[in-house]
Amino acid sequence: MEQVPARVLVVFAHPDDAEFGCAGTVARWVAQGAEAFYVMCTNGDKGSEDPALTSPELARIRETEQREACRILGAKELVCLGFPDGGLEDTHDLRRELVRCIRQFQPETLITSSPYRDGIWHRDHRTAGRVALDAVYPYARDRLIYPEHERQGLKPWKVGEVLLWGSDEPDHFVDVTETYSTKVQALLAHKSQMGERPEENVAKWVRQRCEENGKRLRVPLAEAFKRLEVRR
Ligand SMILES: [Zn+2]
Repeated sequence: MEQVPARVLVVFAHPDDAEFGCAGTVARWVAQGAEAFYVMCTNGDKGSEDPALTSPELARIRETEQREACRILGAKELVCLGFPDGGLEDTHDLRRELVRCIRQFQPETLITSSPYRDGIWHRDHRTAGRVALDAVYPYARDRLIYPEHERQGLKPWKVGEVLLWGSDEPDHFVDVTETYSTKVQALLAHKSQMGERPEENVAKWVRQRCEENGKRLRVPLAEAFKRLEVRR
């Protein structure tokens, strides 16, 4: 039996990362009653080759696109931390904010990008994943870490499991056959990133990957994760 969390927190570096990584899974869980919360670590202000666009303009466009993607997926809330694209660092500031989100939203499951992937992988993806894992364990769990949160009414929180997308060794697959079209719709909400004919180009590539993952579950389409259980 599939365990559907009551609350899931999705932590990602850039607008559109989470749509590639886990949108089908989130849409599936939301349809089954889960509440989904999104934390976008950077503002995506470097992701364009358009010479007419400035970074602040691009950041505004991309936040709007992410809000639309979250709306399509039925997410309850999007938190934008606003760190610069390409400049996400393993700092107290980032860790404290992720701990705050975990204590505020109290997710059973946290989904983020793999910090361990070999080869070409955006540095921000590694950093978001690594700091999210640190925030889960032990930082959000221990009440004396960031005690200002307790003064603000936030209690320590133990996340039960972490799912990592982009892993070289996925061991957990979620059937997204029924929510695949919602995943693509959310992905295509990132219009500034999709280039020409996204239905043919981006969506085709994403479908191939989901079909590949689906073979592991013997279903048409699936998303793939590395699953980490957190000791309670
Ligand atoms: Zn990214």
